[in-house]
Order: sequence, then C-alpha cells, then structure tokens
Amino acid sequence: MIGCSGSPEPVGRRPAKKPAATRRSATAEVPKAKSRRPRTQTARPADTDVPEENEPARADRPGDESKRPRRPGKRLLLADLLRQQPDSESKFLTTLPQMQVDEAKAAAAGIRKLTAERLTLYTDLPPSPTIDELPEVFDQAFPQWCEYFHVDAAEHADWHMTGFLMNEKAVFVRTDFLPHGLPPFRHGYCRNYTLWLYEQPSDYYRRHLILHEGTHGFMNTLLGACGPPWYMEGIGELLATHRWKDGRLTLNHFPANREEVPQWGRIRIIKDAFSARRPLRLKQVIDYPPAAHLETEPYAWCWAAAVLMDRHPRYRERFRGLYKNVLKGDFTARFYRAIGDDWRTLSEEWQLFVSGVEYGHDIAATTVDFTPGHPLPESGATVTVSTKKGWQNTGVRFAAGATYRLTASGRYQVADKPQIWWCEPGGVSIRYYQARPLGILLAAVRPDRPKENTGSALLRSTAVGLGRTLTPKESGTLFLKINDSAAELGDNAGESTVEITRE
Ligand SMILES: [Zn+2]
Repeated sequence: MIGCSGSPEPVGRRPAKKPAATRRSATAEVPKAKSRRPRTQTARPADTDVPEENEPARADRPGDESKRPRRPGKRLLLADLLRQQPDSESKFLTTLPQMQVDEAKAAAAGIRKLTAERLTLYTDLPPSPTIDELPEVFDQAFPQWCEYFHVDAAEHADWHMTGFLMNEKAVFVRTDFLPHGLPPFRHGYCRNYTLWLYEQPSDYYRRHLILHEGTHGFMNTLLGACGPPWYMEGIGELLATHRWKDGRLTLNHFPANREEVPQWGRIRIIKDAFSARRPLRLKQVIDYPPAAHLETEPYAWCWAAAVLMDRHPRYRERFRGLYKNVLKGDFTARFYRAIGDDWRTLSEEWQLFVSGVEYGHDIAATTVDFTPGHPLPESGATVTVSTKKGWQNTGVRFAAGATYRLTASGRYQVADKPQIWWCEPGGVSIRYYQARPLGILLAAVRPDRPKENTGSALLRSTAVGLGRTLTPKESGTLFLKINDSAAELGDNAGESTVEITRE
C-alpha cells in the first residue's frame, strides 16, 4: 500500500480514546446536526455503460473497510455546508485545525524539526541533504498544485502542512505523533493538514510519497475532497511523479527512464501485466473500490489512466476539469457524461497505451484519429506514413473479402544515436521492437464498428515491409505506422510512401 488519504476528518469514526494530538482535528467537524442522512445513490444516465459510483474518498486502507462501519454523510456534510455558505468555501476548509505538536516532547524523543513555508516535517532520521531539503521540495509543489487546481495561491498564504517522516515507528507511537486512531498503512497516509510516511530506501520515492500525500492534503483542505479512488489515486500519482533536478521541482513529469525514478515501478507493473495477458480495461480501473489500494498495482493503473487523459489532446481539458466535481456525489457519472461518445475511442486508446507503455512515452504523438475511411478509388491511392507518429489513419476503407496490395517505398531515419539509423519499409534487421524489425511498415484494418471485448484491431497488426496483400475479413479503415517505441519517435525523420491498389 502506498498511502494515502483520509478526507477531512470523517464523522462518527472517532476512536474511543482519541490521542490528544488529533482530538482537535476530530472536533473540527462542524455541523454534526445536519446531513446525518444516508448517502443517496445518484441517478445515472441510462444510455451509457456507467459503472457503480465508487465510494468517495476515504481512508484507503481498504482491508479495514470491511471491518469498520460505513460512514454515510461524510461528504454530504461538506457539500451541504458549502451549499449553505457558498461564499465561505475556502474560509471554512482552511479553518480545519492543524495538528498541534508538543515541541519539547518531540525534541526529547530525538525527533528533529525541519521547517519551510508550506511544511513542517518531523523526523527521527539523521541530517542529510536529501532529507533536509524535503520542506523546500514541498514549498515548490504548492504553487504547482495551485496552478493545476486553479487555486489562487495568494488567498492561501498561510496554508501549511505538518508531516512525520518515520524511520522507527515505535518512536512516533510512543509520542502519540502517530495516533492510534489512524488506519494502518504501509507507506504513507494523509489526513487534512497532516501527513505521515515511513522512510524509503530511495530519495526519489521518499519525495514521491511526500508529494503524493501532499496532493491529497491539498485537495482535502482546499477543494474539500479527493474524489473516488481512481481519481484520488490517479491524481495523487500523476502529480507526485516528478523531477527534482538542480534544486527545481517539476510535478506531473513523465519519467524519461527508469534511473530517474528509483523504486517507482509503475511502468514495470503495467508491462508485466500486459506480458502476462492480464492488462486492465479502463473501466476496471475506474471501478476500483477503495479496497483495491491495499496493493501497489492499482496505483500504477490509476497513474496510467490519469496520465493518458491528462496528456491526450482530446481528453485533457475534460480530465483537467474533473477536480471541480470532487464534492459532488456523482463524480464518476459526471466523468462518463463528460467523455460521452468518446468513451469507445478512449477505451481503445487506453488499450494501445498500456500495450506499449514506455519510459518517455509520447502520448501526443501516438493519438489516433478513428474517423472511418472512404472506399478505395478505382485508380488506387497513395498515402504517406510519418515516422514521427503512432497509428495513422489512411482514410481508405477496405471492403471485407476484397484483396488489396500495399507497396511501400521511402528511406527514413529511425534513430539518431549513436549514429543516424537509416531504414526502409522492410525495417532494420539488427534492431527489433516488440519482436519485429525496427522501422518495418505495419498495417491494421480497423472494423467500422469494433466488437466489444475483442480488443483493438490495432493490436493485431500485420507486417507489410516493402509490400504485401491484405484480404480483410471485416470491412474497415486501413491504419499504418512504422514499428517503433512510443518513446523513440522524436529521433525519427522522414516518411514512407505507400501505394494502395485493389487486386
Ligand atoms: Zn493516495
């Protein structure tokens, strides 16, 4: 388990003996009298394949969910309050109390205090540059969170979190800085303005966790909630995946290689699942219950869903607007409505993405235009295939049972290191990608109405090389691309010309 978040302190779940350190937080729950009513299921549009709404943001220590009572009304509590006080939204949320730390007790226990503008971090770890700079890292995250969620940083000049980076858990238990009332967690946890995390073996991953929990803290305190599990963890992972270079932090970084992100492993999880023929469908990711986040895998899938939509020109704007719905009970239904008729193509692009995800994956260059093509003219057609893009729509529609000949020509560059690699549509036979020669021309005929559950036709491609005939079983549009990693299109140059005739 990576984290993660309790939304603003849940009502009605106070442990019998609440440690002093969190009692203030618990009593911060404002209007108890209101909204102690069961959460109602929100109506969904009948015409879409909309899954059950996941339970909203809750402590994602899922193993515990079954044991503890549901907490109806928690999110309604906030939502109702905001409806009552539409003008004081941010005022209310930022008045949730901070955890009070007994400084003398901390010092006596050998716990150091590191402070910056946005984070006070308590740790039992000895001084070291990568530990001591964490509050500075956090400071740099704050304006980036503000920008991503359209929050005016100037209105939250005193926004500040308290964190506990724990090497020896017992020290923090003994001092009550790790309250007994928290759900158990393996890596990190966040509640309101307070986050906890255990020491990690990699500097990258320690920062990643603090940024992940910080993202939850930011959303809980300034937006009021984190949304359902797929979104809460997807956004947490999206923004936590970062670059820290020369003292500058960049959130929402797509790792260029494994060495940038030691211990992160999200791409490896997806690649392994694909190799084992058990990749998740996008809907399965969106359907994740809170219980799923006991394991690391769901964090990888939620990251993948978030990064695909966040970087895809067709979905980006809609995805980036979702944060506005975190306090609404029908968050996921709203998401489906926003995607609307694009759900099929989004699901198909998801399949393509997870089938070939790479460090440095160029999502924008591998977007697919699914517009159905037109029948091939009597005289045939000539199309060009860029070496800098993924699957390209030729605009030519093949009829079922007919035979077409493709003849490819051109000389193009498929790599520029250590020297320029020249290539023809037959590919280079001393370098391979996905078991086929690098740069070889590939074709796929995508049916006009893809069947459900068969997977994208673009995952069942045919090697064309310099030429071959195709006789599709189903009518559909011809797509072409050259065989290369989605991370290595940037160093390609040139194009292939393909003549298409009917035999
Ligand atoms: Zn989380």
